[in-house]
Amino acid sequence: MEPAVAEAAKPIFERLAIIGVGLIGSSIARAARAQGAVRTIVATARSPETRRRVVELGLADQVVDSNAAAAAGADLVIVCVPVGACGAVAAEIAPKLKAGAVVSDVGSVKSAIIRDMAPHLPKQVHFVPAHPVAGTEQSGPDAGFAELFQNRWCILTPPPGTDARAVEKVRRFWEALGANVEIMDPAHHDLTLAITSHVPHLIAYNIVGTAAHLEQVTSSEVIKFSAGGFRDFTRIAASDPTMWRDVFLNNREAVLEMLGRFNEDLAALTRAIRMGDGKTLFDLFTRTRGIRRSIIEIGQETAEPDFGRRAHGAETEAPIPKPYASGD
Ligand code: NAP
Repeated sequence: MEPAVAEAAKPIFERLAIIGVGLIGSSIARAARAQGAVRTIVATARSPETRRRVVELGLADQVVDSNAAAAAGADLVIVCVPVGACGAVAAEIAPKLKAGAVVSDVGSVKSAIIRDMAPHLPKQVHFVPAHPVAGTEQSGPDAGFAELFQNRWCILTPPPGTDARAVEKVRRFWEALGANVEIMDPAHHDLTLAITSHVPHLIAYNIVGTAAHLEQVTSSEVIKFSAGGFRDFTRIAASDPTMWRDVFLNNREAVLEMLGRFNEDLAALTRAIRMGDGKTLFDLFTRTRGIRRSIIEIGQETAEPDFGRRAHGAETEAPIPKPYASGD
C-alpha cells in the first residue's frame, strides 16, 4: 500500500486525473499523494491489466476504465501516455473537461504535443504542457516512485496567451513534487532535449545494436566483456521502445539538426585518430571531463560510480541526485 496523504497545506488542485499510469504517471500519483498536492486522484490506463495493478498498488482513490471518465470533473488532467498517443487522448477527453480545468502532459517532446493536443481542447480550459526531465529505463506502474522528481527539472511550455494563474498553479504543483520549474519556448525545449537526451539515446540504441550484430556475425564476446562503457549504453538502450520511437518521430527536425552536428564532430575525431593527432583527442577529452565536473557541481549527478545498479533503476533523462542515488 502507498503512504497515506501527507498532512500538508491546502492542496493545489482538488481533483487530479492521471491518464496513463506507467513510470511517470505512477510517480506523479505517488508524489502528489505523499506531498498532499491534490485532494483526490482518479486514474486510468489503456489496458485492464494496468488498471488492475493500479488498484492493487493503491495508487489512486478511484480507477476508471476510460480516459473520458477520468477527465470528467477533474481540476488538473495530466496525460502520461507516449507522445504519439497524446492527440487522440485530447480528442477523447475534450467533451468531458469542465470549464476552468487545467490540462497538462509529461511528453518528452513539446512542439508536436502542442500541435496534436491544442486543437482538440475547448477554449474554457487551460493547456499547460510540461516535461519532467526525470526518468529511468523502467516502465509501468510498479516502476514509479515518489522521489523521482526531487531536485529534477520540470520544463513548462505554455503556448502564448495561456492564463498566467493556470501556469502558476502547475508550477506550484511540480514544485510540491520536488521539481525545479523552468518555463521555455517549445521549439527551444525540443532542440535542447534533442542534444541532451534524444541523440544520446539514439547513440545508445545504435551502439548496442552494432555490438549485438557484431557478436552474432563474428562470435565475439561483446556481452561477456561488457564491463566497459558498453554496459552503460545497454542500460539506456533498455528504455521503452514505444516511448522512444514516438520521441524520434515527433522531434524529427531538432534531432536531425543535432545529428548533423554530431556527425561533423565525429568525422573530425575519426580524422584525428587516422592522422595520429593526439592533441585534438587530448584537448577534447580534457574539455569533456570539465563538463562532467560542472554537472556534478550543480547537483545534477553524483561522483560515485554506480555501474547501473541504483535501487530504482538509473535515470535515462536525468540523473538521480543524492540521497536518492542509492547504490548497492
Ligand atoms: P510507460 O511506463 O510505458 O507508461 C505508459 C502509459 O501509457 C501506460 O499506462 C500505458 O497503458 C499507456 N499507453 C500506452 N500507449 C497508449 C495509447 N496508445 N493510448 C493510451 N494510453 C497508452 O511510459 P512512461 O515512461 O511513464 O512515459 C509516459 C510519457 O512520459 C511519455 O510521453 C514519455 O515521453 C514521457 N516521459 C518519460 C520519461 C522516462 O524516462 N520514461 C521521462 C520524462 C517523460 P498500458 O499500461 O495499459 O499499456
